Amino acid sequence: MKPIQLFDPTSSSYTYVLHDPSTREALIIDPVDQQLARDLALLQEQGLKLLWTVETHMHADHITSAGQLAEHTGAQTAAPQGCGIATAARQLEDGDVLQVGGEKITVLHTPGHTAGSVSYLWRNHLFTGDTLLIGGCGRTDFQSGNAAALYQSITQRLLTLPDDTLVWPGHDYQGRTHSTVGAEKAGNPRIAGRTQADFVRTMAQLDLPRPARMDEALPANQNSGIGAGRRDAGGSLQVQPADGYAGDVSPQLACRWWQDGQAVLIDVRTDAEREWVGFVPGAVALAWKQWPGMAMNLRFDADLQAAVPPGNKAVMLCRSGVRSVAAARRATELGLEAYNILEGFEGDPDAEAHRGARGGWRFLGLPWRQK
Ligand code: FE
Repeated sequence: MKPIQLFDPTSSSYTYVLHDPSTREALIIDPVDQQLARDLALLQEQGLKLLWTVETHMHADHITSAGQLAEHTGAQTAAPQGCGIATAARQLEDGDVLQVGGEKITVLHTPGHTAGSVSYLWRNHLFTGDTLLIGGCGRTDFQSGNAAALYQSITQRLLTLPDDTLVWPGHDYQGRTHSTVGAEKAGNPRIAGRTQADFVRTMAQLDLPRPARMDEALPANQNSGIGAGRRDAGGSLQVQPADGYAGDVSPQLACRWWQDGQAVLIDVRTDAEREWVGFVPGAVALAWKQWPGMAMNLRFDADLQAAVPPGNKAVMLCRSGVRSVAAARRATELGLEAYNILEGFEGDPDAEAHRGARGGWRFLGLPWRQK
């Protein structure tokens, strides 16, 4: 059984999906924000239920879609403990095992590219992130990189696995998909026949350019990619242009339209979220997906068309403005004038992964009730 290997051409990054064929439960490694739609479509086509999104390290060259995947699928986020990704629900340590149906994925702490970097081992498949690349390795010149530590991780941890272990890297810039431990031990020019001192010298002389998206990627990835590239509504009463639906609006503008009778307020959160987190009296409760499992609500289209009279706008509210984008796009396909409410009911998580203190309908004091 092989992992599903996916490629992001902009960053030359690989993403991997592993699953248990009997339970259809799945785990994704290093998902990329710009490939969110592709990855959601893949999960749906293959009938996979995503349990975990995991990172090999905090990426400097692309933004993770972990937080968005969690919103869409109900998956939990996990990240290496030493990477400073505080929003990840599970902080992974060396030797931890993630279970996906009957499959086990083991965490190997392999510092060097960054201090927190890990690799994942599933059966005879090794996912090395940027620790070990095909015929190369990740850089060590920023983000707590350490060439001596990387040499130790590669030679003492990864290349001590059986020779036929398949190596699935985090990147390849030449179209190669995978390698083996045996091939890398024999032929990786950074490692084969080289001492640690040689390796450290080589790494110090690389003089690589900064990754193009680094200043944007690092702060975004500290937050599981949530909030990346998303506009803060800032209380604006102007519609902001959007792709695939009528526009993005602040909670304040949506509330004004709704109270004037210009718009129907559609709450696309699950029944459980409304019950536990609070709801807006008078909003139409119409889940985009339902917990548990975040299965599509098959009545969504029909119930939406019944709820919005001709000539009315539909304004879509979810937890933080992720699922409501998908719902607004669908409403647009159904012929409605549909808007996404930025920030959602609870807003984005803060540095402690708490929601509710960074904007959103409830924080802004718009009408809501607990019970
Ligand atoms: Fe990296």
